[in-house]
Amino acid sequence: MDHISHENPRIQVHDKPVAGCGVCRRIEQTRQGQNPYFVRELETGYVVIGDYQRFPDYSLFLCKEHATELHFLEKNFRDRFLQEMALTAEAVYKAFQPDKLNYELLGSGNDKHMHWHFFPRKEGDTPSPGPVWRLSPAELYDPAFRPSPDELERMKRKLNAELEKLL
Ligand SMILES: [Zn+2]
Repeated sequence: MDHISHENPRIQVHDKPVAGCGVCRRIEQTRQGQNPYFVRELETGYVVIGDYQRFPDYSLFLCKEHATELHFLEKNFRDRFLQEMALTAEAVYKAFQPDKLNYELLGSGNDKHMHWHFFPRKEGDTPSPGPVWRLSPAELYDPAFRPSPDELERMKRKLNAELEKLL
């Protein structure tokens, strides 16, 4: 069932795919077994490897509901979503051993469908210390940073093994 507030049209939570949403489209592909980046389905979302690996082992957790903000989610779902986010973060950390794992809950570029980004950061991985978004889109989305099928398999296997231990 969709939950759309008539008092405040900005409050939108959809549990059916929303046309034009990049995250919903990716989830549909995942459900159809057509997402090579898919790692594992959890109760409230999907763990996937990032399309571009300028930051090696960059991973994401996509919310199953098309919702813009945490506080728009039904409370039990939200609590579980946050638990599973923390669990995914721990698995990414253990699998890839960064100096620091950075988390971000974003969605503005994807029809506002919130999703967690996990960036494993290493000392000196940017010209000056700071968030990944200081790099240009040309660098972040350089096709050279697309993982090879072998690299993708390695990342998926490692992350899945750590998730398995934590679930
Ligand atoms: Zn969506």
